[in-house]
Amino acid sequence: MQDGRHRLVDTLFFDQKMHCHLSSPGPPMPVLDPTRRKVTRLLGRSLATGTLLGPLTARAEGHRAPHHATHGASSHQLTPQASGRAPALVGKTAPPRPVIMLDPGHGGKDPGAIGVSGTYEKHIAAAAAQELYHQIRSAGRYDVVMTRADDHFIPLEGRVDLAHRHKAQLFISMHADALHDPEVRGASVYTLSNGASDAQTASLAQTENSADRFAGPAFHGMSSEVQAILASLVNEETRRGSAHMAASVVSAFQPRIGLLRHPARHAAFVVLKSADIPSVLVEMGFMSNRHDEAALRQGGYRKQVATAMSAAIDRYFVGSGMNIAHSG
Ligand code: ZN
Repeated sequence: MQDGRHRLVDTLFFDQKMHCHLSSPGPPMPVLDPTRRKVTRLLGRSLATGTLLGPLTARAEGHRAPHHATHGASSHQLTPQASGRAPALVGKTAPPRPVIMLDPGHGGKDPGAIGVSGTYEKHIAAAAAQELYHQIRSAGRYDVVMTRADDHFIPLEGRVDLAHRHKAQLFISMHADALHDPEVRGASVYTLSNGASDAQTASLAQTENSADRFAGPAFHGMSSEVQAILASLVNEETRRGSAHMAASVVSAFQPRIGLLRHPARHAAFVVLKSADIPSVLVEMGFMSNRHDEAALRQGGYRKQVATAMSAAIDRYFVGSGMNIAHSG
């Protein structure tokens, strides 16, 4: 992995003619921004030598440069922090915990679906997300943020913006919508459908703001062709992550939460359109079905849903090669 990283940096410089400090010689630069790490990993896979490099896990980053670890906290001080968040790891070698953004659907003036007995989806979504929030917090393996902690309206794009601002590594939107057919029941999980994602990536790649998200300041020194390659690689990785999370949710739900047939679905939901944060939208059931509505009104059932979601999150991060053993 060490060799791979050096080779990768060389490749960036010689093959892609990127005259930027990413490719400067000397000791490997600290690559601690989660987004940049993602880009580096992607480039490692696709551009370096044709061989798959291992994922640059958070643990590997923490251990790969002993001179950083022994000479104070220089590498960690370079880690960009989410706005308003204290740098929790200065002076320590423990990697930062992944940030999960929970998004309870709807809120405020938008009630979401209205159930057969009058329950508002926005309340069910908030209660389920709160339960999951507390489970994640008490497990201590991740940082968790919510797009809304109370009953107020947030535009859909605003939810994705919040996830970017907090440098989330996973975005989970929670819903319980309605269908015309009151017989249909069961949970399902959505990832972004293809067309929408391509369009989003294309437009993102053209803006400087998005450039920072893909590769940090070094992005500005790259040609537009390389920027487009990076953007498409990041998007591909994001889609893979989203699909992995969706599969994790389905298998975690299977034992006790009823699922729709073909529960892993695709749609162009706005909240799934982040090009660089794996995102899923979970329909916990349908407010239009009296059994689902009744179940989702029960705290005990929402707890089961949240427990399954927690298991899915663990499965996701373990499968992503990220170190989640750290707790506290
Ligand atoms: Zn909804």
